[in-house]
Amino acid sequence: MADLLPEQIRLWQHLEATAREHFRRSAITEIRTPLLEVTELFARGIGEATDVVGKEMYTFFDRGERSCTLRPEGTASVVRAAIQHGLLSQGPQRLWYGGPMFRYERPQAGRLRQFHQIGLELLGFADACSDVEAIAVAWDLLAQLGVGGLELQLNSLGSSEDRARYREQLVAWLEQRRDQLDADSQARIASNPLRVLDSKNPDTQALLAEAPSLASALSDGSQARFAVVQQALTALGIPFVLNSRLVRGLDYYSHTAFEITSSQLGAQATVCGGGRYDGLVQQLGGPATPAIGWALGMERLVLLLSQSEASAAAAPSLDLYVVSRGEAAAALALALARRCRQAGLAVERDASGAAFGKQFKRADRSGARWAAVIGEQEALDGLVGLKDLRAGAEQADQRLTPEALLEVLAAGLPRP
Ligand code: ATP
Ligand code: MG
Repeated sequence: MADLLPEQIRLWQHLEATAREHFRRSAITEIRTPLLEVTELFARGIGEATDVVGKEMYTFFDRGERSCTLRPEGTASVVRAAIQHGLLSQGPQRLWYGGPMFRYERPQAGRLRQFHQIGLELLGFADACSDVEAIAVAWDLLAQLGVGGLELQLNSLGSSEDRARYREQLVAWLEQRRDQLDADSQARIASNPLRVLDSKNPDTQALLAEAPSLASALSDGSQARFAVVQQALTALGIPFVLNSRLVRGLDYYSHTAFEITSSQLGAQATVCGGGRYDGLVQQLGGPATPAIGWALGMERLVLLLSQSEASAAAAPSLDLYVVSRGEAAAALALALARRCRQAGLAVERDASGAAFGKQFKRADRSGARWAAVIGEQEALDGLVGLKDLRAGAEQADQRLTPEALLEVLAAGLPRP
């Protein structure tokens, strides 16, 4: 679990602000749910057979002897909240969320135990164009943030009937080759056979080249639907590659599944993953509701962006740095800083009481456009020296009343 220090936080805030604005333009509203849920929600909503529920959850008993879990992902909580508060009877819901998620994983670059996601859930949307709209929102957000070198991988898991049929074919095929599979994959034949398809074991992967393909198990209707998704992506100019091994290993996933990956991320290549989950709302006790969503890993996004100029774009801006010396001057500096902040300026007050030379050095380093200077004489006169930190030394300093200073600053600052 990582601390996010002031040095890094600018980039995070830039990402969050960009995402928030991007969702606003897409008519998608934020929803916030608790970090803690009853364990049962994830067991039912993600599935006992998944790695997340099977080995990665932070689960404990609270003082009321209830089994609680720190949320490992956002979808189950959002769906729970939508059901619990009757949102689904108010029409389709376009929701996004963001915040920390918790998984007991082996920490490495791009893989943490507390990590952050932003995610989208479109609840009550059945049509193929909504799949593409969801993908486009993710794709365009990443593009707007300036992330390059991305690849959209796409697959269709078909309807639940298609999947059941394919599952049978695959299990029969895997059973015949059980002794050639790695131990994890062997165990998954019974619990979650589709998940064998994205085994990380190279021998298993080589063997799977011969396995029956999911694509050929799709019904005509599912194939036609998948064709519409592909056409709509092409029409929007969003490139994709088909990946028939891409499965989201949960039973309630159907039709569109996708991941956005980057070659710059090494082993943890997936920045964003999502798909259609038409069965989940019902699985959690709500009305039958078609839905599609995705989740994006913020740490991986930060890894991708910290090398780029997006970090520079997120530099802080300070308008005024106030230096003072002596008790009366400090009191005046305090009042001036407050007055300027109330007027909308970003102001830092030097509280060190150090020699003016030292304070001026800090003023220069602060990146502020202006410095206000209050010495003992200024404090007596109720005046403030104003220094333009971007002008050369030949520029004479002015001595002004606080009100006059505020006027100069308000006029001289190009506001964004
Ligand atoms: P992976 O295959 O990398 O474990 P996943 O399938 O478990 O990913 P999802 O549950 O789909 O991931 O979560 C969506 C995104 O959240 C991932 O694509 C990734 O960017 C991010 N993510 C998932 N787990 C972690 C983690 N432990 N640390 C940092 N980011 C993560
Ligand atoms: Mg994982």
